[in-house]
Amino acid sequence: MPEAPPPITVEEHLARILAAVRPLPAYQQPLMEALGLAAAESVVSPIALPPFDNSAMDGYAVHRADVEGAGPEAPVELPVVGEISAGNAQLLALSPGTTAKIMTGAPVPTGADAVVPYEWTDHGVARVRIDKAPTAGQHVRRAGEDVAVGDLLVEEGTVLGPRHLGLLASVGRSTIAVRPRPRVVILSTGTELREPGTALGHDSIYDGNSYLLAAAARRAGALAYRVGIVPDQPRAFLDALEDQLVRADVVVTSGGVSMGDHDVVKEALAPLGTVWFGPVAMQPGKPQGFGTVGEDDTLIFTLPGNPVSSYLSFELFVLPALRTMMGLAPVSRPEVSMRLTHAITSPPGRRQFLRATTEAGHGRVTPVGGPGSHLVGDLATADALVVVPEDVTALPAGAEVGVIHLDSGLEGGH
Ligand code: AMP
Ligand code: MG
Repeated sequence: MPEAPPPITVEEHLARILAAVRPLPAYQQPLMEALGLAAAESVVSPIALPPFDNSAMDGYAVHRADVEGAGPEAPVELPVVGEISAGNAQLLALSPGTTAKIMTGAPVPTGADAVVPYEWTDHGVARVRIDKAPTAGQHVRRAGEDVAVGDLLVEEGTVLGPRHLGLLASVGRSTIAVRPRPRVVILSTGTELREPGTALGHDSIYDGNSYLLAAAARRAGALAYRVGIVPDQPRAFLDALEDQLVRADVVVTSGGVSMGDHDVVKEALAPLGTVWFGPVAMQPGKPQGFGTVGEDDTLIFTLPGNPVSSYLSFELFVLPALRTMMGLAPVSRPEVSMRLTHAITSPPGRRQFLRATTEAGHGRVTPVGGPGSHLVGDLATADALVVVPEDVTALPAGAEVGVIHLDSGLEGGH
């Protein structure tokens, strides 16, 4: 039996992954498909907004000089020569000494330089009495006052939200170049696994991991395809993998990568020589694998089977890869410093990630459960990870530790 290679650090493993991952090629997609994705082009405005001078009120368009000095004691009367409504503007110019009814959003006719709101008039139809004079330009929205032709609307790399999409549509864009959502195929291995909703035998457990990983991938912004359970048989595993490669940018497997007798993923993939397997100096999540498979060199992450290990490995290694593919910064959750409410211990030589809960605003972090990588109940309770460095074996209550919040920094998700 070959000897296990010495562990590599979390950073070394991540660096190796990021060196192999490229942003997916961008293409023009309909605006609604781009929600939450990073723009792969900078967009400048092809038109001005507003596109033309238009009325901000329902009222009467006037030459301001005609109504100068109008007041309740000295009303001005003008003939009403037409009506201009939004989307129905036949009157293009207004002669001095006349007025036209105008609705909000309708183009202000040439010559007119202010709008008198209804409230300042007697609402006249053929003639109108005006009791108050507008100031120059009052109630007129000027062409280009919001956006000028050539203004930068969206910078490349911006994660597109509703307001960006609304603006792009407002200047007439129907598509924008974005990187597509990576397609992630998730395969659970384990002869003991059963699909939720089916009966559980005396020696079986439900496949929680594929849901955990698929949900995490989807929340990261990827398209997640959850494949059924694959038994611990190399042939069955390779067949399932082969079937799935057509729809995968990334394959994520769980289970079958440690030192046991039925480590199917390792057994099936090691002979290919394209997937690295080895220990990473972390707890949980020590057994890892990463490489490529198939004709198109599809990326594959082989994560350990224990649910907490699987999830942590996703957060630390798969998530940065997916984000890179989407044109986002690989790591979105900086470690913040908080104080431990309880003392902890940690194995030497491995970076420990403890599940924990945080108290917003108090800067305190409380470890939940133990270090056991099977503790899914505690994992669900946790909202953060405490990061204990490799060379630290014990910390007292009150010690400052690095904390990663698990539910932040997920722009791009859906
Ligand atoms: P393995 O890495 O395959 O040796 O699995 C390690 C532990 O994780 C074993 O106790 C497995 O039963 C458990 N496990 C593996 N895959 C899953 C899964 N998909 N869902 C829940 N537990 C799993
Ligand atoms: Mg297994």
